[in-house]
Amino acid sequence: MTADHTADHTADAPGARTAVVTGAASPRGIGRATALLLASQGWNIGILDIDAVGGKALAEEIAANHNVTAYAVTADVSNEAQVRTAIDELEAALPPLAALANIAGVSSPVPYLELTSDEWHRVINTNLNGVHYVTRRVAESMVRHNYGRIVSISSTSAQRGGGTYSKTPYSVAKAGVIGLTRALARELGPFGITVNAIAPGPINTDIMGGPLTPETRADLIDTLLVNRVGETHDVASAIAYLLSNQSTYITGQTLNVDGGLYMH
Ligand code: NAP
Repeated sequence: MTADHTADHTADAPGARTAVVTGAASPRGIGRATALLLASQGWNIGILDIDAVGGKALAEEIAANHNVTAYAVTADVSNEAQVRTAIDELEAALPPLAALANIAGVSSPVPYLELTSDEWHRVINTNLNGVHYVTRRVAESMVRHNYGRIVSISSTSAQRGGGTYSKTPYSVAKAGVIGLTRALARELGPFGITVNAIAPGPINTDIMGGPLTPETRADLIDTLLVNRVGETHDVASAIAYLLSNQSTYITGQTLNVDGGLYMH
């Protein structure tokens, strides 16, 4: 069965639909910036995070400041059963799940020769299997509506073979996200679903072991073509564009939001 490509889905305001954002609870993270930007654009927001308190607080903040519905569920993205239960709950509580931003992730600065199997599996299970588990369940819902927008966060680490805070399993998982994105763009396109990835360079969050010091910031800027480290809104605005109806002819792509790191 294929989608009706002539259907005018663009007639629907985002307010009639929901964007699911994973990894949104972190107070200085890309997920939070994305959830707030999407809410300001009229999307209802479904938050899925391992941090129950932070997720609930963000849902309350969104509901208080934007004229949309926000609902938070708690799940470890690396646990498929938890993910399915959580998305079931979001689906029951919110308007149709039309967009998905896969943002939850962990870093891994461990050098390869010191890597344990537990660390390998922790990172692959969260950063790659987690994206698959969430996407698989949300895609089941999107297919029923013949409409969907999926964006997953990869990294320049996938393209450059890691970095200081993102060594082997991180690079492998983020490269897997690009492969998953291309394969799903091929398979889900006939159902009116676009699937893209974003590869951020260094972004000013706490994932690199806490706030940047002046020294680490300067070292990062030396690797870029622009004279600043990225901020969460740089990634959030790219995600919002790929989830919007401004980008309906873009699928299977990886957009670098990296200040020129990859080509530097
Ligand atoms: P962050 O602030 O640490 O946000 C990550 C979020 O994911 C947190 O809310 C975290 O919850 C949540 N999370 C972690 N493991 C989870 C799990 N198993 N299940 C559910 N939620 C989980 O980091 P960020 O910098 O915003 O990173 C967001 C995404 O961008 C990640 O995928 C990261 O790899 C990617 N990225 C970041 C950069 C960068 O420079 N910042 C560059 C390239 C790519 P807790 O806080 O409770 O652990």
